Amino acid sequence: MPKELTSRYIQKKLQDELGLNKEISIIAHVHLPSLGPVRGGAETVAGAIMASVNTLVMPAFTYQTQVIPQTGPPDNAIIYGSGDEQNAKAEIFRPDLPVHPDCGSVAEALRRDDDTLRSTHPILSFVAQGPHAREVLASQTRKNPLGPIAWLEAHDGAVLLMGVDQRHNFSLHLAEQRAGRKTFIRWALTIDDIEELPNIPGCMEGFNAIWHELADITLVTQIGMARCELIPLRPMLAYAEQRLREDPNFLLCDKPSCLSCRAREV
Ligand SMILES: [Zn+2]
Repeated sequence: MPKELTSRYIQKKLQDELGLNKEISIIAHVHLPSLGPVRGGAETVAGAIMASVNTLVMPAFTYQTQVIPQTGPPDNAIIYGSGDEQNAKAEIFRPDLPVHPDCGSVAEALRRDDDTLRSTHPILSFVAQGPHAREVLASQTRKNPLGPIAWLEAHDGAVLLMGVDQRHNFSLHLAEQRAGRKTFIRWALTIDDIEELPNIPGCMEGFNAIWHELADITLVTQIGMARCELIPLRPMLAYAEQRLREDPNFLLCDKPSCLSCRAREV
């Protein structure tokens, strides 16, 4: 392992050990500090992934646009009227709003790249680069925030996790939705409105429950200090949906205080 990872080294690992190539489109979730030192930092990692795949999608979520209204529909895992402080700090969504820190610096580096496109969902936008970037982003609507995941699945895409665990595997929300799990309404500041956004998925803290069950379909390698995985979407989503149908509480976290998971418990 080199002292400092280079683009070439990361690309070789992604291609030789996870089988990435120019035919495969992916969604990537990366925690840069887990890799150890990388020459050129986040831009290098974004570029190395981009160079190894067809179309690269990353989350560019902007939770910082969210506001909590005084009242709203019941059973929505939110305490209405509790958001005065948050509401005062909320930012208006705009296409160049930096991604929320939870999405990581590599997603932010991809967003800043001139060749990158971004969808316009005020909370759950994605960034994409590559031949199908426009098409995959266009599959997202206000009513269907998970459209890009379904697009990737339909085109034999995969999930790349670099230094993060299943709690970052956002695509599992599509299996939840298909299995009938409840979603939520959230509100975001946009340039001329407060937009009401349906079908927002919930907490991901319980997602590691599926980790070992996906071992048979997962390719694993180590890049720098990070465990990295590639999971094909089609079998992952089919398996997760089946498991959720058998056990409707699968993938929920066990925190008594988690409004999101407790509202979805059956
Ligand atoms: Zn939870």
